Amino acid sequence: MVFYTPGRTTSYPSDKVDTGIRFHFLGGAQEVGNVGCVIEDKTGTRVLVDYGLSPGDPPSYPDECPSIDATIITHSHLDHIGMVPWISANHGCPIFSTDLTGALAPMMWHDTYKISKIEGHPLPWDKRDIEETAEVWKSVQFNEKQKIGEWSWQLHPAGHVPGAAMIEFELPEYRVLWTGDIDVRDSPNVRGAKPVSADVLVMEGTYGGREHPDRKEEETRFIQKIKEVVSRGGIAIVPAFASGRGQDILRLLYRADPNLRVHYDGMGKRVTKHWLDHPHHITDAEEWNRIWRWVRRVGSKSDRKKALHGDVIVTTSGMLKGGPVLWYLNRLKEDRDSAVLITGYQAEGTGGEMLLENGSLPIYGTITKIACEVERYYLSNHCGHNHLVEFAKNTGAKHVVLFHLPEEAIEPLRTSIEANGQTVHIPENSKSLYIPI
Ligand SMILES: [Zn+2]
Repeated sequence: MVFYTPGRTTSYPSDKVDTGIRFHFLGGAQEVGNVGCVIEDKTGTRVLVDYGLSPGDPPSYPDECPSIDATIITHSHLDHIGMVPWISANHGCPIFSTDLTGALAPMMWHDTYKISKIEGHPLPWDKRDIEETAEVWKSVQFNEKQKIGEWSWQLHPAGHVPGAAMIEFELPEYRVLWTGDIDVRDSPNVRGAKPVSADVLVMEGTYGGREHPDRKEEETRFIQKIKEVVSRGGIAIVPAFASGRGQDILRLLYRADPNLRVHYDGMGKRVTKHWLDHPHHITDAEEWNRIWRWVRRVGSKSDRKKALHGDVIVTTSGMLKGGPVLWYLNRLKEDRDSAVLITGYQAEGTGGEMLLENGSLPIYGTITKIACEVERYYLSNHCGHNHLVEFAKNTGAKHVVLFHLPEEAIEPLRTSIEANGQTVHIPENSKSLYIPI
């Protein structure tokens, strides 16, 4: 557990920047999660990009953020926004994001707060701070020029999930592109990111050194399995994240066969409502309205029982760590005709990882054997290795700063990007990285 003492526990240096740009990663450098980075140049303008946490047992947090002129948030995933209420409580600066990210964030915080109470890990911020955050939050449209101090900046679509943004900064001497989490491929719900030219690129590297299977082939394999499970009389349980993956799955199922009886449970329903209120962020919003009327939304205990007589259940949590998915699994655990179809990343120590490894997982405190078939599908919303390298090349950046990096991604990405004649920088948490002019 970390409780910050504002102004006393930060790793941020007290000296001014003489020349070039300083990137100070409070977290999220050589790790996936906990993102937070302070950017400053000689004009003294100081901006925080993202401030997340890593949900775990116990959760982990980035370093304390120093005072800043503004915060810009790339998207609504917890590893990028989880600590933002602390910023508004302690620094009171404006916080910018797209309108959809701003709408989704409070829901994510309330959920995080609830889980922290249940798990007995107090957060460094309080429930009241969520309300304060709403007062300083400002929505920004894509390609709408903004000013902070002597810098201009604007947001560009990042793919990944609806509302996700890249940030382009125009400093007096440099143009910087911050990717956030990106995907250049079109997904069922959002179009892929396009490169923006820059002198310095700060790019996520989650899948450096790895390639995803072809998305279309993986989607076909997934749908074939759904049909197989349904035709043998089973139910397909699809644990899916509330923000992005669940909706991708629903669109795939609707397009594959609208006669399927698909039930949708968990926090994803509220997320989807926000998507429908911000239709400019999703591909073919009209089709989404039809999907919303088609899918059987679970709102009560009796709905849940009805779902056990349907074909597919799409529900949270995506990593089988709590959420309605455990209720369904507990009832279907002995049914060999049913299947659990895992479609997302499973962190170490989560129920999903245990199920894939050993065929059992904790349900309400008891390790439970699952007789259902278990299959895994790769439907990631991050760029794979080659797309990252190509994206970096197409920005024309002289310097590439990599972050959001698992250890195994570092060398493959460095080698491939340097082969394109770009200088690669690997920052460390709690230390400053200076990019020269
Ligand atoms: Zn993300």
